[in-house]
Order: sequence, then structure tokens, then C-alpha cells
Amino acid sequence: MKRHICPRCGSSNIDWIIPQVWSRWVCKDCSYTGPAIEADDDLADEIIADWEENKDKYLEEENTRAEQILSGEDEILDEEMEIEEEDELSEEELDKKLRELNL
Ligand SMILES: [Zn+2]
Repeated sequence: MKRHICPRCGSSNIDWIIPQVWSRWVCKDCSYTGPAIEADDDLADEIIADWEENKDKYLEEENTRAEQILSGEDEILDEEMEIEEEDELSEEELDKKLRELNL
């Protein structure tokens, strides 16, 4: 029988955190977030074995990717911030804020 598992560590201890976004799952075992995969027991065992063997490598890769995702989300947040603060911030203040963000 197929079930949803974490594609990284093979755990089925995952939650679908945003029902509107099918690809947003979070793994309670390795804190992976992203799309889950459907797998049968054989594939799950394979992933678990692979995870146990290469855990350190994967975590390092995940950190790198998380930083990239974070910087992507920052851009979105910045856009929202600018819209919200458009009326409140003078151009000078906005410039200062942008300079700080560019640090
Ligand atoms: Zn996991």
C-alpha cells in the first residue's frame, strides 16, 4: 500500500501543513518541508536506509537550500512590506531601510 512519506528520511510522520498548497508538507522527524512523495514499503525502506547513511550530507545540503529559500521568501516579504508601508515611510526612510536590507 502506498502512503505519503518524507522524501528525505522516509518517515511517515509528516503533516500537510497548508491544505491550499499541496506541496507543503513538514516532516516531524527531520524537519524537512516541501512536497511529500507517495511510496510503498520497499521504497520507504530504501529512503530510510539512504537517509541513515547520508544524513550529514543531506542536512548540509538542506541548510544550503534553506538559505536560498529564505532569501527568496525575504523578497516576497519585502514586497509586502513596501506595499504596507508605502504611505508611512518617506522616500528617505525607505532608502535607509533598503540599504539595511542589502547588508
Ligand atoms: Zn523527514
